[in-house]
Amino acid sequence: MTPPPAPTMAAHSNAVHGGRRRHVLLFPLPYQGHINPMFRLAGLLHAHGFAITVFHTHFNAPDTARHPDYRFVPVPDGSPVPVAIEDAVAQILELGVACESAFRDRLASVLDEYSRDDVACLVADTHLLPIFEVAARLSVPTLALRTGSAACCASFLAYPMLFEKGYLPVQESQRDMPVVDLPPYRVRDLPVIGEDDGGLVRELLSRAMTAVKTSSGLILNTFDALERREQDGLRRDLAVPVFDIGPLHKLSPAVDSSLLLPDRSCLEWLDAFPPESVLYVSFGSVACMSPRDLVETAWGIAGSDVPFLWVVRPGMVRGSADDHRLPEGFEAAMRKRGMVVAWAPQEEVLRHRAVGGFWTHCGWNSTLESVCEGVPMLCRPYFGDQMGNARYVEHVWRVGLEVGGDLERGRVEAAIRRLMTDEEGAEMRARACELKKAAAECTGEGGSSRLAIDKLITHLTSL
Ligand code: UDP
Repeated sequence: MTPPPAPTMAAHSNAVHGGRRRHVLLFPLPYQGHINPMFRLAGLLHAHGFAITVFHTHFNAPDTARHPDYRFVPVPDGSPVPVAIEDAVAQILELGVACESAFRDRLASVLDEYSRDDVACLVADTHLLPIFEVAARLSVPTLALRTGSAACCASFLAYPMLFEKGYLPVQESQRDMPVVDLPPYRVRDLPVIGEDDGGLVRELLSRAMTAVKTSSGLILNTFDALERREQDGLRRDLAVPVFDIGPLHKLSPAVDSSLLLPDRSCLEWLDAFPPESVLYVSFGSVACMSPRDLVETAWGIAGSDVPFLWVVRPGMVRGSADDHRLPEGFEAAMRKRGMVVAWAPQEEVLRHRAVGGFWTHCGWNSTLESVCEGVPMLCRPYFGDQMGNARYVEHVWRVGLEVGGDLERGRVEAAIRRLMTDEEGAEMRARACELKKAAAECTGEGGSSRLAIDKLITHLTSL
């Protein structure tokens, strides 16, 4: 584990006002892929001397005992329940609205308690526009945290243009057409969710961009060597400063913000395998597959003869009772070279020397975590920004390949072999190792992300 950078004295003194630590207030969107970077940001700011107050929903609430140095303020949220991904956009839109008035009361009490001058700002997830609006009404400066890539943020900004020019809604016949206004995307790589005609997603993305444009700055979990062109584009198109301070998990003290309990026994299990021999398979915290795809995936992995560690999360298979997920006999037959867990300590797994490839859904956190460990990827994107991330992995950074089309065991087998045992996979691994080095440079002393953090801290002091 790379040690987090030691905050400089200047940074520390920036966090102190009138002899008291200044407060940064945070409000994460309550989904795993959004919670993790927000808690990493909290760790980073705390290490730089700021006191941290986390506002959070009851839905997917954090385990406060794991963060004894922070203050937590629960905000009633209208009691949402886990929903299918097709309904998640509506749920996210409703969540912000449901929290709005309770958040206003709680923020007002916190401001009374801390004194206005002691509060540096509120950092909220871009998908929580009502939270930004409340903060503005109470004169609290805001910063927007976008937990996806810079390229994805640019596609959010471009969404109205993509409709005007007819790229969206996606027409089946145009899926492979290049989006000339937004290279390297093809139509099929644009952020969409399910069969939505763009109405709800368009609303979500437009609100996210309003949150960015009305804030005092945008924080991105990315780094210069990975997305320089994309960040330059955002700086050109946005009037607010952009702080590319990623990869946050490499810059902040280790923290466990998992909603599910990771099965750590897999780390010991990995110890028995030679370097770069095991395929790690995980589709993140939200993506779901059909029972048929699960079966094809299982037999494809089995047929590849490659050792594997597979995360089969509760609820990952659509419409299937949890104890009937994998084909009968699969786990017993695979015991010698495979392990299935319900949730893994992913960052540590990817850092393990035995792991040689990652079959991922290409959520942005997973993509970054893989890149930072020099692990090449098999990409199977499902929704949202995942298709765009997969496009960058395969086409721009050339550190992986997409498993497209219908999942079928023979194709799965072939794709796994290409990544894990073929020369082509070795070349991808070599490129991934270069990216790992580039990430280490950006996060090292004088690196671009460290400079961006210094700028962010100075910015926080000026608010
Ligand atoms: N993760 C984990 N254990 C698992 C699977 C995922 O700790 O078994 C973490 C992973 O390290 C990442 C996050 O969950 O930080 C998933 O975020 P991502 O953006 O990749 O995908 P999402 O879950 O939002 O689709």
